[in-house]
Amino acid sequence: MDHAAALSQVEENIARTCKIARRERGDVHLVAVSKTHPAQTIEPLLEAGQRVFGENRVQEAQDKWPDLRERCPEVELHLIGQLQSNKAEDAAALFDVIHSLDRPSLLKALAKAYDKLGKRVPCFIQVDIGEEEQKGGCSIADLPDLIEQAREAEIPLLGLMCIPPLDKEPAPFFALLAELARRHEPEPGAWGLSMGMSADYETAIMLSATHIRVGSALFGERG
Ligand SMILES: *Cc1c(COP(=O)(O)O)cnc(C)c1O
Repeated sequence: MDHAAALSQVEENIARTCKIARRERGDVHLVAVSKTHPAQTIEPLLEAGQRVFGENRVQEAQDKWPDLRERCPEVELHLIGQLQSNKAEDAAALFDVIHSLDRPSLLKALAKAYDKLGKRVPCFIQVDIGEEEQKGGCSIADLPDLIEQAREAEIPLLGLMCIPPLDKEPAPFFALLAELARRHEPEPGAWGLSMGMSADYETAIMLSATHIRVGSALFGERG
């Protein structure tokens, strides 16, 4: 698979969809999800100018990214997978954005790590939008409390993130996440939406996604 060609195809789709949605291309951030793929697969994308990457495991990212970052310091690394509280400090040290803040225990662990490191990594709160507990995410009912606790702990919030149920039409879930963000954001337009993957990022852009997390469309199927 030619990864640079795949990137231009995805870029073309994003640009076309932004035009239809009357949105600026610069308001949609492409997070290239490089989980499971080795450095030599990631390099062509770096060479093609992609700078924002997503990983779902702290350990894997620690193994892969320090070297790649040395070669390309402008890289922005996003944690998109579930985070265990005992990995909060490692995650805070390595990542620039965390998409999976979803519970008070993790929030407390992150706040402690931030104080210790003197660094406050901004987070999306992951919402359990399809009520499927195995994927993680804060229930819609618990969301107001978690937002309040994040404010108290001075955890910078970028907005909301979701993974819709695999077997259902994603659009209603994207629309619901957007509605929840409008309801809870500190001021109109302040929050972003991390939603949309390879199969549905164009739909997500139509429904106001600001961060699309695209893996297999760029890197091929994971082994
Ligand atoms: C793997 C993953 C993606 C990317 O999925 P693709 O279907 O390969 O684009 C996006 N978000 C999360 C949370 C993931 O774990």
